Amino acid sequence: MGELMNTDLAPDLVRLARAADYAARQHIAQRRKGERAEPYVNHLTEVAALLAEATDGSDVVLLMGGLLHDTLEDTDATYEDLEQRFGPEVAALVAEVTDDKSLPKEERKRLQIEKTPAKSRRAKLLKLADKTSNLRGLVASPPVGWTEARLRDYVVWANDVVQSCRGLNPRLEAAFDEAHETASRHFG
Ligand code: ZN
Repeated sequence: MGELMNTDLAPDLVRLARAADYAARQHIAQRRKGERAEPYVNHLTEVAALLAEATDGSDVVLLMGGLLHDTLEDTDATYEDLEQRFGPEVAALVAEVTDDKSLPKEERKRLQIEKTPAKSRRAKLLKLADKTSNLRGLVASPPVGWTEARLRDYVVWANDVVQSCRGLNPRLEAAFDEAHETASRHFG
């Protein structure tokens, strides 16, 4: 194969590859909650792939946000790290989808429903992709120790969070709806 002909794309591909590398390193020791304990990075690449497919790869900031969306919440990365490495747009997007970890879990869950409507278009698309991946994960590999009631609650909550994310991208919405229907059938 020859070299990439579209030179306009080259800097974006470099940034995207660096974001994937950084995310994999930051989450290196983290596993998903499910019984299969998959590497956490699989969740991040799934979210990025959902976003890429839904937007035909048109928004590199969104894809980088997908790869990096849990770095502030779950790793020692700081806003300044992200800003310096990936620029202010990416850092701001990741911050937008980051919960305040000083709050109790139930409060954080309530705030996701309350605050998502005021978020940016990119943040809403990211939420849709994130919850799609999480619902698929719940079915494919349910978290150890979760009761049926807890699984059902999560499915209902995920759907509540993304209500305000609808009407933005039909493909992503369809992917979410399919994951939600499957999870509802499984745990309903
Ligand atoms: Zn996530």
